[in-house]
Amino acid sequence: MKQPLIAGNWKMNGSRKSAIDLIASILTEAYQFPKIEMAVFPPFVYLSQTEELLTGSGVNWGAQNASPHKNGAYTGEISLEMLKDFNCKYVLVGHSERRRQFGDSPVIVAEKFAAAMRAGFTPVLCVGETEEQHDRGLTWQVIQEQLEVVFELKDNHSSLRDIVIAYEPVWAIGTGKSASPEEAQEVHLAIRNRLGEYDWEIASKIRIIYGGSVTPENIADLMAMPDIDGALVGGASLDAKKFLEIGRKCNSLY
Ligand code: PEP
Repeated sequence: MKQPLIAGNWKMNGSRKSAIDLIASILTEAYQFPKIEMAVFPPFVYLSQTEELLTGSGVNWGAQNASPHKNGAYTGEISLEMLKDFNCKYVLVGHSERRRQFGDSPVIVAEKFAAAMRAGFTPVLCVGETEEQHDRGLTWQVIQEQLEVVFELKDNHSSLRDIVIAYEPVWAIGTGKSASPEEAQEVHLAIRNRLGEYDWEIASKIRIIYGGSVTPENIADLMAMPDIDGALVGGASLDAKKFLEIGRKCNSLY
């Protein structure tokens, strides 16, 4: 059985003090949720404190982005090698905010995904349609295109075991308007079936998590769906009480 993943994407929020306080609060209870995996994605500059506080705790951490380049004249970028210094397990790839605001094109997302795999990270590939695409009935077409980066690596099937897919409808991110559990399940199942066209055994093990206005109030209904294997939580992950409540509810369902 897949261990559910509850991951908190902090985005560009907080301070050194609030990051430390948030992790300390998470640690007061996270050990009580042995059936799930919890992870946080702090801003790069707090990865050092994150590593220090979380090492050995069972709570994992990752980076919100990474350069596909090894090193060189890329002002402002952070390489995967640098992230290794902080023992990050995960890297978010293709978050809709990166795609829309920072020009992460499908080619760049593919490069980042492949580089993260090569470097031994577990990429969390974010896919999802905009409201307009949703309303025009283009959801599956958009997601299929965004999933192509995975299939570019299909010759190396076994490495696909170590990926996470996050279905994050753009219209649900930060809006308070989550996809319904049934709506999300339909997309998650389609993603799993598509992965299964290459290798069903691996597809059945890959965690497909949902993101978009996840709260303590809606997590149980989402997690009741057979193909929802966890959540990528934005806003609610900045509040230790809410993040822990999401973890607690998820843990109690398994
Ligand atoms: C996100 O940014 O990945 C996200 C899901 O945000 P929120 O939970 O705030 O909608």
